[in-house]
Amino acid sequence: MKVARQRKKKELVVGLDLGGTFIKAGLVNQQGKILKKGQWPTLAEHGKRQIVINQMKTAVDSLLGHRPAPALAGIGIGTPGLVDNQGRVFEAPNLPNWHNLALGRIFEQTYRVPVRVENDVNSITWGEFLFGAGRGSQTMVCITLGTGLGGGVVVNGRLLRGAVFSAAELGHVTIDYHGPACNCGNLGCIERFVSRDAIVERATKAIASGRETLLVSLSGGDPKKITPKMISEAYRRGDRLAAEIWEDVGTCLGFFFVGLVNIFNPDRVVIGGGIARAGKPLFQQIRKIVRQHAMKKLSASVKFVPAGLGENTGIISAAALVLGSAMTL
Ligand SMILES: [Zn+2]
Repeated sequence: MKVARQRKKKELVVGLDLGGTFIKAGLVNQQGKILKKGQWPTLAEHGKRQIVINQMKTAVDSLLGHRPAPALAGIGIGTPGLVDNQGRVFEAPNLPNWHNLALGRIFEQTYRVPVRVENDVNSITWGEFLFGAGRGSQTMVCITLGTGLGGGVVVNGRLLRGAVFSAAELGHVTIDYHGPACNCGNLGCIERFVSRDAIVERATKAIASGRETLLVSLSGGDPKKITPKMISEAYRRGDRLAAEIWEDVGTCLGFFFVGLVNIFNPDRVVIGGGIARAGKPLFQQIRKIVRQHAMKKLSASVKFVPAGLGENTGIISAAALVLGSAMTL
């Protein structure tokens, strides 16, 4: 009886998704269901890393309530930036002095439970693999499409980390070396073709060159207000330019995935982030290009699916870092 009670007590983990603006955190059970969650400001603008760490602890404390910390099975943290397998963050954009920070150890010492820290997109990849659209997969590629393109790769049930824990910077794979220069130092990175801004720019350029499109009225005559969501709305209403934009974005992603499919031979490719909501026209074109151009045996065995965890993906995925760690992480 005592043993059973003990085990029940340790069923919960905290999943904490650290963003530049907000910390989202939740108490998550072994099945990946959120029992309690909240959102706290990151306070990165103060420029002090201790303030951010304190905010993270405030989040954990308020989720725990009166529970003693040892009732937890662990804490999983998804953070921007580069993280090693000991929970040390080497650098993170938008977070003050997030250099060489032993984030895992700080939380282990405070709460006396196992702590896993992972790059946020790697974390989402693991969350989708364990609880989302990647369930049942063995080798999986995951990307998130939004202001940029983030990626993660699971190979034979293990997250791909690489020599210095930086594998799967998928946004910085060249699809056209004549293409635009990227901040990363490379030329023609896929991110430069399929980021939110790059998608919107296709529309604004076309309008500037005199193309007729529903996007003019949808944006109230101000092309600066065009969003990918608006382009999807125009597509649904039969707009020719919107269809062309999704076809071109899908073609860029399609050729990018031809390479990834040929390299990793995934059984599943999971596509998440705001841009993935474009849905059918995007996925259709990606599948078509991969079917036509990847190695036949490999393209026949891969499925392209939208991400499955929805708006709570960051919290559930961070929790999955702890929940799945005994398995293969
Ligand atoms: Zn790049």
